[in-house]
Amino acid sequence: MKYNLAVIEGDGIGPEIVRAAIRVLEQVAPGKFNYQQVIAGGRSIDQHGVPLTDEALATCKNSDSVLLGAVGGPKWDTLPGHLRPERALLGIRKELGLFANIRPARLYPVLKDACPLRKETADKGFDMVIVRELTGGIYYGERGRKQDSDGNTIAFDTETYNQTEIDRIAKVAFELAGKRRRKVCSIDKANVLESSRLWRERVHVVAKDYPDIELIDMLVDNAAMQLVKNPAQFDVIVTSNMFGDILSDEASQLTGSIGLLPSASLSSGRCGMYEPIHGSAPDIAGKGIANPIATIVSVAMMLRYAFDMNDEADRIEQAIEKTLQKGCRTIDILDNDTQPLGTNAITDAIIAELA
Ligand code: NAD
Repeated sequence: MKYNLAVIEGDGIGPEIVRAAIRVLEQVAPGKFNYQQVIAGGRSIDQHGVPLTDEALATCKNSDSVLLGAVGGPKWDTLPGHLRPERALLGIRKELGLFANIRPARLYPVLKDACPLRKETADKGFDMVIVRELTGGIYYGERGRKQDSDGNTIAFDTETYNQTEIDRIAKVAFELAGKRRRKVCSIDKANVLESSRLWRERVHVVAKDYPDIELIDMLVDNAAMQLVKNPAQFDVIVTSNMFGDILSDEASQLTGSIGLLPSASLSSGRCGMYEPIHGSAPDIAGKGIANPIATIVSVAMMLRYAFDMNDEADRIEQAIEKTLQKGCRTIDILDNDTQPLGTNAITDAIIAELA
């Protein structure tokens, strides 16, 4: 059986890193995938005048999974909001119902010198997964501007969550924790926000179905501090759209480079979208120096979550680790005494480990 993979190379470094990841995928699962190229983002604006055509969306919807590089770049920065390349992603997330964003943040032991934390904290290492709610909360709530009676302009955004949205994301977090170290930390601002109080209530209701998983609650301001003080304490974090957006970027930086971190966006069905967490890096696009590891690990996540190909996913992760242990480095994770490898050269090294 062959799976259909919708491939959005996107803009900037997108094509370089996606092609590298597909070379690795073909090494571990040769001939298992049909690749359907989808034009979205800036390239789609140039070719079709919109960031995502109906046809492109339909291809994604009809595929078994979507692999994305990144979209956007300075060329399209001055377009109005509804025509920006990033709109393509919002459209795909909404139409595919991708409500759960899974972002692992793990410090590779061999890269602990790249961690910006104190040595004794980095030495302990960390391996956490942030589960961020992706289709609700303040990014989707009612917003607008109005004038008060004195002519003052008021702007407002609304944080709204219903219990169904909270229950389903909590379930994702507990299921994931069951396959890891069995700890969930739910992050909210329940001392101030009513939406957070419902969040906390519902997470505890869902927790009753998972008696063997430890649950703790943490306020978001404390969580921001704990991430830099003692990241090793976290296993699975579950949180709302905006808190997850901010905390996952904070966590990513602790690993040393944004070029290492993958993500998966999942729906209640099988089809998800897999992508590195970084953007299109226009400053290094076309130079052949981008780090492909985040995209390659995203492919490993896809194999594990969408296709139950755990052995293949493990092999990819082990090959990356061995490649790093041998001292192979791209420019973003360079030690002082090594020569940087380009995108293709480090991909060759990873493939050599796999072979
Ligand atoms: P960015 O993540 O593209 O780049 C930030 C910095 O990290 C840059 O210096 C870049 O060179 C470096 N970097 C990123 N990925 C790297 C890699 N794989 N290897 C080596 N270095 C890497 O963020 P930005 O500069 O803020 O955004 C650039 C564009 O990407 C913008 O148009 C933005 O809107 C878009 N963007 C897209 C996505 C997405 O498609 N999911 C996400 C974030 C940003």
